[in-house]
Amino acid sequence: MEHNLKLITVLVPCYNEQESLPLLYERLTTVMDACPNYRWEVITVNDGSTDATLGMLMQMHARDKRWRYIDLSRNFGKETAMLAGMDYATGDCVVIMDSDLQHPPEMIPRMLEKWEQGFDDVYGVRLQRGRESWLRRSMSLLYYKLLQKTTRIPVLQNTGDFRLLDRICVDALTSMRECQRYTKGLYCRIGFKKAGVEFEQQDREAGRSKWSFRSLLGLAIDGITSYTTAPLRFATVMGLLVSAAAFIYMIWVFIKAAIYGDPQAGFPTIMTVMLFLGGVQLLTLGILGEYVGRIFNEVKNRPSYFVREVDGIKVSSKAKDRG
Ligand code: UDP
Ligand code: MG
Repeated sequence: MEHNLKLITVLVPCYNEQESLPLLYERLTTVMDACPNYRWEVITVNDGSTDATLGMLMQMHARDKRWRYIDLSRNFGKETAMLAGMDYATGDCVVIMDSDLQHPPEMIPRMLEKWEQGFDDVYGVRLQRGRESWLRRSMSLLYYKLLQKTTRIPVLQNTGDFRLLDRICVDALTSMRECQRYTKGLYCRIGFKKAGVEFEQQDREAGRSKWSFRSLLGLAIDGITSYTTAPLRFATVMGLLVSAAAFIYMIWVFIKAAIYGDPQAGFPTIMTVMLFLGGVQLLTLGILGEYVGRIFNEVKNRPSYFVREVDGIKVSSKAKDRG
């Protein structure tokens, strides 16, 4: 009887979250206990924390076997931590949420309802972005506009990594093993039946956000370059435009020289044109380089992460990863 019940995996990446874990344990356990018509499994991924996180995850596992943990060999970043969690998740569906309680666990039953109605990918829609700086909010808006313009597939704004994925979506996601993952793009890439559930984003419970401006910029560039080759097209068009302009200018210079003779050519003009062209060339090289760098990283075909242990048992890299 027990085993006919569907298994729900809750996937929580954790990086230095010692302050929020006790409350997460309490609130999530309450939710799980309130839904006895499912079996539950919480997979916490310790993403190379340097504080007491790992010890706490071990304790939680000892107290309640539903709480499992994966200990990664170092910090790999949230995207990769999620991939590791998905590789090890055994549930019929996987609910991904942050460990800082910005994603209220109390929403999970509502997501499960949608799932039971037949949706494969139930994503949380943020009603309000908690206490975030104006700069960060407007940067994020601008970024989504840009991403929307350059990619054909819409990437939804105000949806994050708080979502329920059916097994079919999880298998699709884990089959894509690129190293610089941009999961938000991948969710859209895989398709399947999607539905949104609104939730109020809470302020971070404790500790502080692990994202620096630099890492966000890196993620933003990854997002665009892993998703679309539009910047390369942009470089081509830019090159064409500049060449066309240069050609017209050349004709103009010829005619001018033919009619008025050839007085001293202006030094400022030459400088301006040279610097402009130099800038355009560097920009284009940079764009090219972004893609060459990505090719370099993918071609090495290394495993995305290494696991130290799972639920207290050491795991050799030969055993798992690579799906
Ligand atoms: N996280 C992670 N590895 C990292 C950075 C973050 O696993 O290198 C986890 C973190 O523990 C949290 C989630 O990703 O559960 C979101 O992180 P954070 O709250 O810092 O991001 P924000 O909510 O500000 O986007
Ligand atoms: Mg957070």
